[in-house]
Amino acid sequence: MVYLNGEFLPLDQAKVPVMDRGFLFGDGVYEVIPVYSRRPFRLAEHLRRLQGSLAGIRLANPHSDEEWTALIGRIVAEGETDDQSVYIQVSRGPMAVRNHAFPKTVTPTVFVMGEPLHTPPDSQREQGIAAVSAADFRWLRCDLKVTSLLANCLLRQLAIDAGCIETLLFRDGYLSEGAASNIFMVKDGRLLAPPKNHLMLAGITYDVVLEIAAAHGLAHEVRDIREEEVRAADELWMTSSTKEVLPIVTLDGKPVGSGRPGPVFARMYGWYQDFKRDVMRHG
Ligand code: PMP
Repeated sequence: MVYLNGEFLPLDQAKVPVMDRGFLFGDGVYEVIPVYSRRPFRLAEHLRRLQGSLAGIRLANPHSDEEWTALIGRIVAEGETDDQSVYIQVSRGPMAVRNHAFPKTVTPTVFVMGEPLHTPPDSQREQGIAAVSAADFRWLRCDLKVTSLLANCLLRQLAIDAGCIETLLFRDGYLSEGAASNIFMVKDGRLLAPPKNHLMLAGITYDVVLEIAAAHGLAHEVRDIREEEVRAADELWMTSSTKEVLPIVTLDGKPVGSGRPGPVFARMYGWYQDFKRDVMRHG
């Protein structure tokens, strides 16, 4: 079952008109919420980020937080597995004629679906993953979670074409994030993360990793990170709701640090799994 504009129906019966601005212009926003033991993780934070994305594209939120919570609750309850990932999309809806200008009356298209949550295979965590890098050619509102993901798709495909998992993005000599993840680095035992601004998406997992670091007394710092620093890192990690935390062991074919998942990653991974067991699964 998925939700589309007031109805719960099977996925293959959910249809959107071709004149939808989401289809023609990528004019919409989305969220991906991980669900553990049927409990949406940090729902309030995801709904806050959704509200920020909607405000950023000047689209009224079609639902109150209470309505979103009920809607998501029903999707999660009907899902096949206890761990899920819930996808929410709101587009600016259909238009009568193709026109960039917003319609006078907007009827947003609201779509929610649940999918089984697939965390990365153990091999990726144990052996680490390979990444490439590219110039970040996206727009200047990367803080908004918008459905116009063409640049992210093109950038991620560079990694796939090279047999890698993620593409690290540099803008004007500084690290912004991954094509679909946030990036952390470790140097001399210290965890570094780029600051939240318009050049990156404020990941919910990014917050979790920094909170865990603080809770366990791991030295960490949020600041602009130069490309040379990334290339000389002892460890690099990527984070996202579905990938959790993964160690990057090669960048552009060169080893990161020892070329193996590092000791700080091993600690963070353990803490993250404890957090998942003790906090995420209990709301
Ligand atoms: N940056 C980008 C560009 C993303 O698409 C994502 C989510 N896939 C993230 C960062 C990580 O965000 P979160 O931790 O909330 O999944």
